[in-house]
Amino acid sequence: MHLGERPRRHPDDFTLLRHVASETTPQEREEIGGHIALCPRCASREREMDLLDLQLSEMALEELCESMPLPDGDPFRLRPSGLRNPSGGRPSMASVFASLPAAIELRDRLLSTGHDELCRLPIGSIDGRLALVFALHEGHARVGTEPRTWLVFAERAREHFEKWASNREPRDGESSATAAVPDGDLRAHIHLLLGQGHGWTANLEAAGQHLIAAYRSLREASQVDLLAAWIELEEALRRALLGSYREARVLAARASATFRSWHLAEEAARGRALHGVLESGLGSEELSAEHPCQGSGKRGAASRSSTTSRGGC
Ligand SMILES: [Zn+2]
Repeated sequence: MHLGERPRRHPDDFTLLRHVASETTPQEREEIGGHIALCPRCASREREMDLLDLQLSEMALEELCESMPLPDGDPFRLRPSGLRNPSGGRPSMASVFASLPAAIELRDRLLSTGHDELCRLPIGSIDGRLALVFALHEGHARVGTEPRTWLVFAERAREHFEKWASNREPRDGESSATAAVPDGDLRAHIHLLLGQGHGWTANLEAAGQHLIAAYRSLREASQVDLLAAWIELEEALRRALLGSYREARVLAARASATFRSWHLAEEAARGRALHGVLESGLGSEELSAEHPCQGSGKRGAASRSSTTSRGGC
């Protein structure tokens, strides 16, 4: 490597791009990192490259959608673009941070005292909404071990939320709460958990309905990209189990592109792995025979259990 021989030399664009995309060897990494630490010019180029890398990842997603389209009428054909300006209000970061301790306490109560606490959850407040999102995150991570428990939780969350949504009146304070956590985000999380729960209990039909509802809710959501990718990954798994391998591959590739652009290496690898398995045409019988709900199938268990390590978003 030329940098090894001439460490004082500025790395070329291609090398720097590979460095930003974490595609360099450990030795290159050390050399380039050392150079950048001492060279303001290259440090500034590195920041530009970082941005370019992100744009490339986003472009890859658009190209993917164009070059590997899903059939007309498929609810997953186009990824929803989400809210530009949620609820017309702007979330105040100060009020979100101020609500965090209360939200975490509420979440812990939701998770430990069972689901009755849900009926008392103040959905119109920032801490209530954050607590629900946090609890649903726990659900996404743990649904594989206790699918029925989480199905009940998600179902009650949905009832409670929809009841609140149909009775609400515009009030002061609610706009900052819904700006911080828009309805679409809550609905998408709830339906994703319902989709996961039904997937784990082998009700693929119901799972599909909820994943579609989750995807549609993104039109009213603010955290669109990551939520979309998680929903797509779940739907990819579901379609693979139904034998629609090509569509599953398209969705897995899309999800992976988003995780990559967010530098979520583990999630991206999960999407790539599913895509790779499907592309190699690895035993279709194997895929359909080993259903995740049995928990014994190697592939099913491996792909399902990987969702348990899902990080926060
Ligand atoms: Zn330099």
